[in-house]
Amino acid sequence: MIGTLALLVMAQTQQWPQHSLDRPRPPVVDPGPERSPSRPPSDAIVLFDGTNLSQWRADDGTAARWIVREGYVEVKPHTGMLVSARGFGDVQLHIEWRTPTPPQGESQERGNSGVFLMGIYELQVLDSYQNDTYPDGQAGAIYGENPPLVNATRPPGQWQTYDVVFHRPHFKADSSLASPARMTVFLNGVLVQDNFELVGPTANQARPPYRAHADKLPLKLQDHGNPIRYRNIWIRELPEGS
Ligand code: MG
Repeated sequence: MIGTLALLVMAQTQQWPQHSLDRPRPPVVDPGPERSPSRPPSDAIVLFDGTNLSQWRADDGTAARWIVREGYVEVKPHTGMLVSARGFGDVQLHIEWRTPTPPQGESQERGNSGVFLMGIYELQVLDSYQNDTYPDGQAGAIYGENPPLVNATRPPGQWQTYDVVFHRPHFKADSSLASPARMTVFLNGVLVQDNFELVGPTANQARPPYRAHADKLPLKLQDHGNPIRYRNIWIRELPEGS
């Protein structure tokens, strides 16, 4: 007979296959109504204030091609990622997003985008309101690595917020990993990632190992073919080792 403690330990340490549909769904939490954006703190680097894409480029380095209107920027499907002109390492990031209403598609095809820290590590953006998918691919997930602690999404058509603390990975002189990237995420003010240590770069149906890269790299927003909107994007550079 297996004791209660042993079962508890097993449950906590069980490793699910990537993109497993068998693993438990994170509990649903109502985060409360959407809120108007508040002014960025005085030391923030404002990456998007609703008016222009001067801080952004297309993935090939040419002018950004996503659509700016009425205080938001919308993915222009099939034009590629939106890439910040500056590179960043350790940061606090605030970004607001909104998936289309009425929703179209199911699972990963409904309101998919993503926030790629350093252009490599994806915090998933998805319409996860009554839209089932594999838990490590829903909103608030570190894509393909870790589901959110809870599902605190709002309905499609409402604005949602991510507040992220990201610490970059460190590499040794021989390019091997010294310490992994770490991410803490609040979705609509609710904790969904608690200092999670990433196992490597984001990938679909793969778990590639870390590969050494620069200390600062651009933030990227994903074009997954769905017209997701973003607004009020600001970032604060954190001191190394904080
Ligand atoms: Mg995505």
